[in-house]
Amino acid sequence: MMGERSKSQTLIKVLPFVAGATAAAYVTKRNGEEWMRAGLLYLSHAVWAKETISALPPARIVAARFVAGETIEEAMDVTRTLNAKGMRVSLDYLGESVNDSAEAIAAKDEILKTLDAIAKSEGVTSNVSVKLTQLGLAISPDLAYDNMRQILERAREYDNWVRIDMEDTPTTDITLDIFRRLRDEDHFDNSGVVIQSYLYRSEADIKQLIEEGARVRLCKGAYLEPERVAFPEKAAVDNNFVNLMQLLLSKKARANGVRAGIATHDDEMIRKTIAYVKRHGISAEAFEFQMLYGIRRERQEQLVADGYNVRVYVPFGTAWYAYFMRRLAERPANLWFFVSNFFRR
Ligand SMILES: Cc1cc2nc3c(=O)[nH]c(=O)nc-3n(C[C@H](O)[C@H](O)[C@H](O)COP(=O)(O)OP(=O)(O)OC[C@H]3O[C@@H](n4cnc5c(N)ncnc54)[C@H](O)[C@@H]3O)c2cc1C
Repeated sequence: MMGERSKSQTLIKVLPFVAGATAAAYVTKRNGEEWMRAGLLYLSHAVWAKETISALPPARIVAARFVAGETIEEAMDVTRTLNAKGMRVSLDYLGESVNDSAEAIAAKDEILKTLDAIAKSEGVTSNVSVKLTQLGLAISPDLAYDNMRQILERAREYDNWVRIDMEDTPTTDITLDIFRRLRDEDHFDNSGVVIQSYLYRSEADIKQLIEEGARVRLCKGAYLEPERVAFPEKAAVDNNFVNLMQLLLSKKARANGVRAGIATHDDEMIRKTIAYVKRHGISAEAFEFQMLYGIRRERQEQLVADGYNVRVYVPFGTAWYAYFMRRLAERPANLWFFVSNFFRR
């Protein structure tokens, strides 16, 4: 239990963050939920906020809703349970924005261990998702490339594959470049990429990836992006999501061998995807729905019961801060859960 005194001391620590978030939000966005989202996304990469917020017991409690645990063993247990329910899994060893080569190499080694553990654990089937900034992209693209190459090599030994998550727009081009270089120069065909419907460029990117027969996960996008590059309104992001989903599931895409991951918790997006596949007689094997661990579990189970493939993105590890803040930003109710936990303790 947190005493009144230490609660006040924590409040004193937290207040500057709230003020910082609010100020950042006012600078970048306009009102209500939008400014809260902008503030939380700002805090998600603010080095000065990370230490204090991640040390707060309520943050750990709420983060545990979205994170499978800190160890590979815990991640294997969660994967086994999800697999037993008929769900596919993508394991994410948490980490991003790494600025130290040794840390990037250590992250690569953990991802190799994760691939080993998947191959060796009974009742476990999963691929992995990785972020290039976790593998040293900010230090040097060659370092990230080399780490990624080793990961794909190990995955290939196990007949497994790897999804390269998409991060914020300063990394979009280089992420797609590295994905293509690995495929074209090193002949790794066991990786996939992610396209975000909030970006204006995404339609052109998806059309190109369809030509290439790539594996593509479609999501809305989780980072704070300026209006210069991203649709500011949710309705436009949603419309583009539907447009891109239809391209990814089109006859041409399927003929080219594109494997689509439709990554959303949004009922309207799910309904529109189902309506589209039914209208065009598209087999459930041609695509999969993807959702995040701990979010809309009943919906995940319902989709499986209805005969659709569902892959759950399961993060684990100790570097949960930025991931956790992005989840708070996506849904104000998560923030209230965090605040109420703070006052309950
Ligand atoms: C499998 C997967 C992989 C992803 N990979 C990437 C990636 O590589 N790059 C990237 O930028 N983004 C990624 N994302 C995040 C994505 O871009 C969105 O930020 C996130 O999925 C929220 O968008 P939404 O489609 O669920 O719709 P929203 O419009 O945000 O939400 C629709 C509804 O879903 C529910 N919901 C959404 N988020 C939450 C939450 N955090 N907690 C509780 N309920 C919620 C709520 O009911 C909400 O009303 C990924 C998402 C998924 C599911």
